[in-house]
Amino acid sequence: MGCNLGQPVFYCSVIFPSTLFYILIAFLFFARLRNIETLSNLLRSVIVLSPEDLLCCVYLCLNQLGPAYMGLELGVGETVLMKAVAQATGRQLDKIKAEAAEKGDLGLVAESSRNNQRIMFQPANLIAGGVFNKLKDIGNMSGNSAMNKKIDIIKGLFVACRFSEARYIVRSLAGKLRIGLAEQSVLAALSQAVCLTPPGQDFPPAVIDAGKGMSAENQKAWIEEKSLILKQTYCAIWDKRLCEFYFLNGFVPFEGIDELPNHCKLTPGVPLRPMLAHPTKGVGEVMKRFDEAAFTCEYKYDGERAQIHILENGEVRIFSRNQEDNTTKYPDIISRIPTVKNESVVSCVLDSEAVAWDREKKQIQPFQVLTTRKRKDVAAADIKVQVCVYAFDLLYLNGESLVKQPLSCRRALLKESFQEKEGEFVFARAIDSDNTDAIAEFLEQSVRDSCEGLMVKTLEKDATYEIAKRSHNWLKLKKDYLDGVGDTMDLCVIGAYLGKGKRTGTYGGFLLACYDEDNEEFQSVCKIGTGFKDEDLEQHYKFLKEHILPNPRPYYRVDQSTEPDLWLDAVQVWEVKCADLSLSPIYKAGMGLCDPEKGISLRFPRFLRIRDDKKPEEATSGGQIADLYRKQQVVQNQGDKADLEDYY
Ligand code: ATP
Repeated sequence: MGCNLGQPVFYCSVIFPSTLFYILIAFLFFARLRNIETLSNLLRSVIVLSPEDLLCCVYLCLNQLGPAYMGLELGVGETVLMKAVAQATGRQLDKIKAEAAEKGDLGLVAESSRNNQRIMFQPANLIAGGVFNKLKDIGNMSGNSAMNKKIDIIKGLFVACRFSEARYIVRSLAGKLRIGLAEQSVLAALSQAVCLTPPGQDFPPAVIDAGKGMSAENQKAWIEEKSLILKQTYCAIWDKRLCEFYFLNGFVPFEGIDELPNHCKLTPGVPLRPMLAHPTKGVGEVMKRFDEAAFTCEYKYDGERAQIHILENGEVRIFSRNQEDNTTKYPDIISRIPTVKNESVVSCVLDSEAVAWDREKKQIQPFQVLTTRKRKDVAAADIKVQVCVYAFDLLYLNGESLVKQPLSCRRALLKESFQEKEGEFVFARAIDSDNTDAIAEFLEQSVRDSCEGLMVKTLEKDATYEIAKRSHNWLKLKKDYLDGVGDTMDLCVIGAYLGKGKRTGTYGGFLLACYDEDNEEFQSVCKIGTGFKDEDLEQHYKFLKEHILPNPRPYYRVDQSTEPDLWLDAVQVWEVKCADLSLSPIYKAGMGLCDPEKGISLRFPRFLRIRDDKKPEEATSGGQIADLYRKQQVVQNQGDKADLEDYY
């Protein structure tokens, strides 16, 4: 094929061949920028040769079947995949299992099995759109014979595989594509591609490289600017319109990325990625950060984020922090919305926290109580755990997005649009004070009222709602932080050490890792053995023994000296608190970010709870751990004069 990866690859077929897709992604093991450029060139070729395949190529790279809120998942376990590989290649299941255990990657086993197989008639070559549609068919299957039908589709795909296609198809099916490109990188590549080769053109040679003639520096700045618009639009709304009108549609002239926000507006019914907060260590730090800016302190409730959408047709939908559709989990919230909204509200998007509520004692219940509630298809009559909604923001009202309005204005509109109802729908409790003592007292009070602490938010200046951003305009101040490092961390369990003494027969300690998005790997960060109640240890043992691996995954970055007795599949995230962070020659978290040769480790980590709402890839990142380490150093070295701004 002889393609030059520095340039877009133009292939003579109008249908984008999946071989080319997978061969190109096979090259994506270099540095992040190089990866982005390579993928961008691939996508530029798709735009020219087969624009209708652009969306599926993006989704294939993201290893997704569609946006999260559509809830479409493959539902193919490793055992089923192994069966399919065995049946398609005529090999014995035991052999496949043993080889997968040895190589730690079923994709590689599939590839070698396929390459050693001779077949009489080579089926038609796979094409990217065809593969994607088959994956969607698999995701849409349910019912009794679904598993056998899924196996049949996988076998069909498999037989047609050439070169390294089997490896990537199997990895996609297992949800572990790992091509060195996380979502942010895929979006960066997509923006670069649509900037340089805008879709919907007739493609005279001049348009194929729209950045021609610009200096490298100017071109970089230009792409970065456009990339930001695309990312923000993507986080606000990643639905059919965005894809069909602007990336796929050769028939509608592409109006350029600048026009995206005007066409793809926040819409009730389509979840947006929530704004997130930065951790702070104390009231002093809050005062320093916000300086002269007006701010408010709200209770930080300990429940589950609920983005409540009221659609124009009266329908109410509720989405989680990760844009999953939680509508059927909360029929009680849905039914109370008409009773708390004013008549003037036709459509809106509310940001709130759903918190477990004890109706008799009229008080908030711990987060753990909320986790006992059924997750889907809850019947109102069966509800045992009641919830109260604490509303803290209004992002959209009657056809208008409010995200560019300051919080003071959004909050006023929120209060004008809804009525409080005790134990059902209440505005987040807040004080607008810059008095240190008053804030410290409010923090204490929040904890007495069963909250985690405070959320401190700018009201006027720099007070817009920043979609998908961990913003400096929202600071979280948890009681726990005051004697810890500033925030708890959400870490993935990747290994276990056998228990001794009282813990004989269960696991006595665990190896934890953070997730590094750029390198797509889990980096070891500490061993943990404290904070566990006996029942925690029992629960962990029961759950984790089902996830033992014979060998570490190739994407675990761990020093030999910390090798656990048992390797575990990275399937569960734990919230952990520690005393402080230190540079470490052994642990790999944030490797190279604070010291060229050392990583960072947690000292005196304590287990707090399981974070069922976070996927392993949503664990705290190496970059975040490095930030916390730097912040701690600044505080230690420079005391009150520390200029923390440099470190965010
Ligand atoms: P993060 O969401 O920042 O990654 P996390 O999931 O561990 O981390 P925290 O950092 O503990 O959550 O806090 C942020 C969460 O606090 C929000 O996502 C929201 O669910 C919840 N929350 C509770 N009260 C408020 C409030 N008044 N304003 C904003 N968020 C609040």
